[in-house]
Amino acid sequence: MPPRRDGALALILKPGREKSLLRRHPWVFSGAIDRVAGRPATGDTVAIRAASGAFLAWAAHSPQSQIRARVWSWNEGASIDESLVGERVADAIARRKALANATDAVRLVHGEADELPGVVCDRYGEVAVFQFSSAGADRWREPIVDAVLAETGCRTAYERSDLDVRQLEGLSPRSGVLRGELAAAGVEIVEHGLRYGVDVVRGQKTGFYLDQRANRDRVRALAAGGDVLNCFCYTGGFTLNSLAGGARSVLSVDSAGAALALARENACRNGFTSARAEWLEADVFAALRGLRDAGRRFDLIVLDPPKFAPTAAHAPKAARAYKDINLLALKLARPGGLLVTFSCSGGVSPELFQKIVAGAAADAGAVTQMLERLQADADHPVLLSFPEGEYLKGLVLRCR
Ligand code: SAH
Repeated sequence: MPPRRDGALALILKPGREKSLLRRHPWVFSGAIDRVAGRPATGDTVAIRAASGAFLAWAAHSPQSQIRARVWSWNEGASIDESLVGERVADAIARRKALANATDAVRLVHGEADELPGVVCDRYGEVAVFQFSSAGADRWREPIVDAVLAETGCRTAYERSDLDVRQLEGLSPRSGVLRGELAAAGVEIVEHGLRYGVDVVRGQKTGFYLDQRANRDRVRALAAGGDVLNCFCYTGGFTLNSLAGGARSVLSVDSAGAALALARENACRNGFTSARAEWLEADVFAALRGLRDAGRRFDLIVLDPPKFAPTAAHAPKAARAYKDINLLALKLARPGGLLVTFSCSGGVSPELFQKIVAGAAADAGAVTQMLERLQADADHPVLLSFPEGEYLKGLVLRCR
């Protein structure tokens, strides 16, 4: 159903609650809303109005969510329709053209940062994988999929909207083929000259952690000649790059057997012989203690754990987990060794993460230099007006 543009459907804010919107933060929380005009359904376009009645934005209505609306446009004259979402998709794809030299696997659409809230699209070769995590995104799913296929020439569209957050929007999980078909041979991508099999059906998120692309390349440059420990290795991204960079040995740890199996397969795919690679299916917290007790030491350690704190409310518990693994890892580093440590928790800010790691270093009795700060690659941009989008942060540390 096309949205109405007459502004009859509207969320009117409480006095003073327009401030974040005036700074172009794209979310409207339930507590900011004074009243609802008309009877907007889930996913309908509503006008957001200040208490004075002044127009602020057009937004997608999510009546069941704490995030009651997500902004489509700040322009009162805009029509929220198929052509607008199609233009947004085309612009997002055009902005990523420069990455084509590095890889055929790119995040084409990154939600709020591409003015398509709740929409993620990752391209893996000829396959476009979608996640629609909000009611507004869900409403415009078909034209968004069509626009991506038209702009890229991808033949297959696959949906992985099996996200927990959909529940908060009153949407049920959904996954499967949307257009074309998945080749029986599976999906293969090339990133910085390395080949990876990607399981878009059963893999984590949409199948691959594209956000770590530049950091994998960075690790390749740091690994030469060293013994590497790659914790939370998933399908082997940092492992393969360490091997490609000339590591003497790489020990890769993950608790997911299927991910580890694909990691080993990916090592073979690139002709890395098993002599330099060791694989361990284990809980990293236990594995780090086991390695400590066994007296193992490493020149480069990568810690890329899952999201311990999805929101700030989980931060205290997450802080203990981050401190624990970083403390253990610092103790496993040889003098002069490097620790490359990440957090992808939206609920842990870069400042807090650095503080937690500093606490771990102090407890480890280690003099630790910070050499670099890392972030997600360029296809995961962050809006200055939406700092929540900056979820991935990393530090390169030298232990002395
Ligand atoms: N570094 C990877 C992405 C890591 S994703 C890349 O560049 O592709 C996080 C991984 O941690 C997942 O593979 C998940 O299976 C694993 N994991 C989660 N909790 C774990 C635990 N306690 N011990 C070991 N692995 C764990």
